Amino acid sequence: MLTIYSQDHRYQDARFELIDGKLLPPFENPRRAEMVLAQVQQAKLGAVLPAQEYGLEPILRVHDPGYVAFLQTAWSEWLAAHGDYDALPLNWATRTMRHDRVPETIDGKLSYYSFDAGTPITAGTWRAITAAVNVALTAQQQMQQGARSAFALCRPPGHHAARDFYGGYCFFNNAAVATEAFRKAGAARVAILDVDYHHGNGTQAIFYGRSDVFFLSLHGHPSQEYPYFLGYEDEVGVGAGEGYNRNYPLRWGTDWASYQTAFADAIQHIQAYGPDVVVVSLGVDTFEQDPISKFRFKREDYCKIGEGIASLARPTLFVMEGGYAVEEIGTNVVNVLMGFENSKK
Ligand SMILES: [Zn+2]
Repeated sequence: MLTIYSQDHRYQDARFELIDGKLLPPFENPRRAEMVLAQVQQAKLGAVLPAQEYGLEPILRVHDPGYVAFLQTAWSEWLAAHGDYDALPLNWATRTMRHDRVPETIDGKLSYYSFDAGTPITAGTWRAITAAVNVALTAQQQMQQGARSAFALCRPPGHHAARDFYGGYCFFNNAAVATEAFRKAGAARVAILDVDYHHGNGTQAIFYGRSDVFFLSLHGHPSQEYPYFLGYEDEVGVGAGEGYNRNYPLRWGTDWASYQTAFADAIQHIQAYGPDVVVVSLGVDTFEQDPISKFRFKREDYCKIGEGIASLARPTLFVMEGGYAVEEIGTNVVNVLMGFENSKK
């Protein structure tokens, strides 16, 4: 399997993130992607190719122009206002407050376009997030040219980012941008399977009203787990999209034995849908040693995820999302990809 990688992910390298009441070195850091790349190379998964440039047009097919413009200038505006510190929002519009006015100042805009304080904007953020999209689009292009599968080693991740907001370490929704590129290139139906520990709230929101993209997510139950405000079972899509969104919220402590029924059900629904392409939002923060998550996957369980996806026998694009047990992240990701490779039909 081809892997697409860009060193520019290193430009997203924040000093701190706010978590558990502490300012800690970010869990989402450059070492993650480097550990995954090292394991891809060691396991001889296949060629590693650089990303091509695609410009803003494919991003604007998913994201709001005002949001994209905000991200492009956020750092310089923040730097002018506050100096060389990571840019973080401080408050949000909750119930009874207005959502229809974009503030003029950088602090107001950060609040308007975000949903958490765990996602710092830095001097290099724009460069890193556009590179991550280019990684996903290059992988998509390789598949368009005949590759049956590919691994987009995106960093920062994307599945929490919606049309006009960021959060959960995510700015542009790499999987959604690649999905739209597949649609534009002629795929009639795309299924997105999100196996990251956290609900893919951004991806769900982007495709919620559509039947041409079927979104399925298995994740920590929103009554217990971030991002809390989306990811319940009764979110099934709306309008033309009704029936094309499936959530499998699972309780803290879920291990493979208690995950596999939901996973098999998701695979069965994807097969029944008959997609031209499967896009996998691949997070491995379901791992038992993950520092911010509460599932109990073991290394070998990741092979079974890859095998289950291979059983679909569809062109498959894997897009890197979360996973914060840095020492093990590469092993777990490669176990998914090798499990897929070794059992594909
Ligand atoms: Zn996650």
